[in-house]
Amino acid sequence: MGAVRDKFWELPLAQLDRAEWEALCDGCGKCCLHKIEDEETGAIDGTNVSCKLLDTQTAQCKDYRNRKAFVPDCMRLTLRIVESVAWLPGSCAYRLRSEGKPLEDWHYLLSGDRDSVVRAGISVAGRVISETDAGPLEHHLVDWDDV
Ligand code: SF4
Repeated sequence: MGAVRDKFWELPLAQLDRAEWEALCDGCGKCCLHKIEDEETGAIDGTNVSCKLLDTQTAQCKDYRNRKAFVPDCMRLTLRIVESVAWLPGSCAYRLRSEGKPLEDWHYLLSGDRDSVVRAGISVAGRVISETDAGPLEHHLVDWDDV
């Protein structure tokens, strides 16, 4: 983590600098999973199918720095995206802070332990399949806010 301000995660998202913004991610991996959008209703279903670059055992990107070279449509979260999309999970640190809520106590910035997201059952580590092996997404529907 680069230089960050004390308790920066309590500041409004718009005040975070680049290093603080990056450090806010809890590493759950949920935004790296495919979703299915109903064309008529706009409803979004989650799946347990991950981007090919996600390490399915750790829920970490295998090449975060160069990910765009392998996955050109990988989306870099911005404040505008966080405030406008419905697909970020309820546990997502960016979503919580954009709604004015505090981080959960399992977040590594509070617990001091990157693995607490796994112990809390929030991480997708070991619970997903890569898009290279999965087959049809419709066979892999999961409501992550319910599991
Ligand atoms: S869902 Fe939010 S907290 Fe989880 S990995 Fe994605 S950006 Fe980070």
